[in-house]
Amino acid sequence: MDWRDSPNWLNLRDRYGISEAQIERIVADFLQLDLRRPVERFSPTEHLFWEHRRNSGLIAGHVAEVYGLSKKQAKQVWAVFNARAATQEAVRRQLALGVRQGIWRCIGAGADPCGHLGLDGKTFDIRKGMPFGDRMILPGEDAGCTCMYSPVIAGFDESPTLLQRLKRMFSRS
Ligand SMILES: [Zn+2]
Repeated sequence: MDWRDSPNWLNLRDRYGISEAQIERIVADFLQLDLRRPVERFSPTEHLFWEHRRNSGLIAGHVAEVYGLSKKQAKQVWAVFNARAATQEAVRRQLALGVRQGIWRCIGAGADPCGHLGLDGKTFDIRKGMPFGDRMILPGEDAGCTCMYSPVIAGFDESPTLLQRLKRMFSRS
């Protein structure tokens, strides 16, 4: 996957002025931060990040130093990684509980806050994510994405469309 397909990296380039050369290096080291891979296959940089992902100062400091970014830019890189990591962490926790599927929930202010309204109510494999454009995405991973998902509990017969309809009924009243 090309980093240019990801709104996260485009955002860092266009809004925070991180150069393409810097992005290429970060992406190469973090291998797109594909945290879906087993932890044993993480690069040393990914390991550092995964271990200390909540410590924004430590990660941003490391990123600023290694890639020659300003503190502000480095903090944004951390925010992108952290959004991904939080999603992946939730997925890992739920996989351990036997959850395999989720129902996409598009929430947040506005008619279509992050452009994912078309995915709302759809069921997906949480190990793979949902096809969106040319890639697979998980709720909350992209810059500005406010989506979440409801885990589908095996043996619990939940109809997403019915729930969805009820939710809309109540939110209108
Ligand atoms: Zn979204």
